Amino acid sequence: MNTVAQNIKDFRLEIHPYGAELVAVSKFHTPEVIMEAYDAGQRIFGENRAQELVEKAPQLPSDIRWHFIGHMQTNKVRAVLPHAAMIESVDSTKLLQLIDKEGVRAGLKPRVLMQVHVAAEQTKSGFLPEELVEFFRSRQFESLQATHICGIMGMATNTDDRDRVRADFKAIHNLFDTIRSLCPDLRGFDTISMGMSGDYMIALEEGATLVRIGTAIFGPRQY
Ligand SMILES: *Cc1c(COP(=O)(O)O)cnc(C)c1O
Repeated sequence: MNTVAQNIKDFRLEIHPYGAELVAVSKFHTPEVIMEAYDAGQRIFGENRAQELVEKAPQLPSDIRWHFIGHMQTNKVRAVLPHAAMIESVDSTKLLQLIDKEGVRAGLKPRVLMQVHVAAEQTKSGFLPEELVEFFRSRQFESLQATHICGIMGMATNTDDRDRVRADFKAIHNLFDTIRSLCPDLRGFDTISMGMSGDYMIALEEGATLVRIGTAIFGPRQY
C-alpha cells in the first residue's frame, strides 16, 4: 500500500491539470496521520463531525484550512465557526442564518457552500436544485451580513452506474451555471465541490473545482 504522503503527491499531480483543489477528508483519522499529509504539503482537510473538528484543530498547525463537510446541528455552529475556513454543507436557510448571526457576533466572515441534493438516496441532505434556484432568484443572500457564499457542494448517487454519477455531476454543474446567470453580480461565487474517492475523476471531467477525498488517501476508516 502507498504511504499517505505518496497518495497526496499522486493526487496533486492528477488533479492539477483540471485546475481543481484537493480536500483531504481526514474524519476518523488521527492527528499523526493528518501530519503525514501536512508534511507532504497538503493544507486543506475535511471533517464531518463538529466534536472531532473542535478536538483536532488545536492540535494541528494553524495554517491548515479546515472544511466542514457534514450535516451541522444548529447548536454546533458557535463551536465550529472559529475553526472552519469553509462550511461546505449548508443544507437549510435556517442554518445559513445562524451561521451569519454567529459570524456577526464573533467578528468572523464565514465562507460557505450551499449543499445541493441531486442523488437518488433520500438519506443525503441538501437543498433541492429548484429550492436553490429560488433562493438565488429571490436574492435572499442579500440579507447576509457576514457570510460569503462561495459556491455549491454536492454528492452523486452511490452506484456503479457511471452514467448516473456523471448525470448527477452535470446536474450540479448546471445548477451552478444557472445561479451564476441569475446573479451575475454575486462576487466570488466560483466553487463547485463534488467528487469523492470512488468518483472524483468523473467529477473533475464535469468541472469540479474542489474534490473531497478520504479513503483513497488515508485508507479505510475505523468507525
Ligand atoms: C466522508 C466524505 C467524503 C470522502 O469520502 P471517501 O469516499 O472516503 O473519499 C467526501 N464528502 C463527504 C461529504 C464525506 O462525508
